[in-house]
Amino acid sequence: EKKPTSILYLDGVSVSFDGFKALNSLSFVVEPGELRAIIGPNGAGKTTMMDIITGKTRPDEGEVFFNGEVDLTKKDEAEIAELGIGRKFQKPTVFESHTVWDNLELALNRKRGVFATLFYRLSVEDKARIEEILETIRLTGRKDDVAANLSHGQKQWLEIGMLLAQEPKLLLVDEPVAGMTDAETAETAILLKQIAKTRSVVVVEHDMGFIRDLGVKVTCLAEGSVLAEGSIDFVSNDQKVIENYLGR
Ligand code: ADP
Repeated sequence: EKKPTSILYLDGVSVSFDGFKALNSLSFVVEPGELRAIIGPNGAGKTTMMDIITGKTRPDEGEVFFNGEVDLTKKDEAEIAELGIGRKFQKPTVFESHTVWDNLELALNRKRGVFATLFYRLSVEDKARIEEILETIRLTGRKDDVAANLSHGQKQWLEIGMLLAQEPKLLLVDEPVAGMTDAETAETAILLKQIAKTRSVVVVEHDMGFIRDLGVKVTCLAEGSVLAEGSIDFVSNDQKVIENYLGR
């Protein structure tokens, strides 16, 4: 049901590529401050769904609304990013030769439209915000290290921090824990829950242990639509989910 308060509202979204229906009447709703997990087999349409939300792909049919009334099907990628939708792809894309701090400073400046510069003078508030993000992403003690020296997991956290510097209202995160150690994976669940206290977060993941740690509502996609939605216990006991995904 469409509410004027939903941060994200997809209804009846379909898109085909060369006659192949990647999304088939998909419906998906996220409320403010909600953390959501998306699972599903390869080819289920998870990436396509993110592409639709971020304006990379246009739906053939269906409604896509942000923050109640903003029709995302009428916006381009840059406008959607500007509206406050951040997307983290699977591979971290931090500036390896820059320090952790400078990566965050660059991200903060990017929000102002000041690209690739460290010469913009930071205000006291900016510095405080960077410190706050460093704490959220568990990198306060590493702020003067170059990003190249971080572990894979820490680079993922730094990239999440760079997105936070842009103050998104909705953060889309693609397979954050792939390649992480068990300790980093557990920490990432805590970190994302913390982030979702001030914004909505949608996470696509295959790691069921991590999904269980998140303890949030799960949506399982298959063949471009929702197979099951609910708690991890509900979804993982669904016969269709077992047949299409978990039992494979
Ligand atoms: P998932 O992320 O769940 O693995 P995808 O959204 O990547 O699934 O893909 C869904 C289906 O749509 C796949 O069969 C894929 O091959 C197809 N697909 C996705 N994007 C394109 C594209 N740009 N052109 C052609 N086919 C695509």
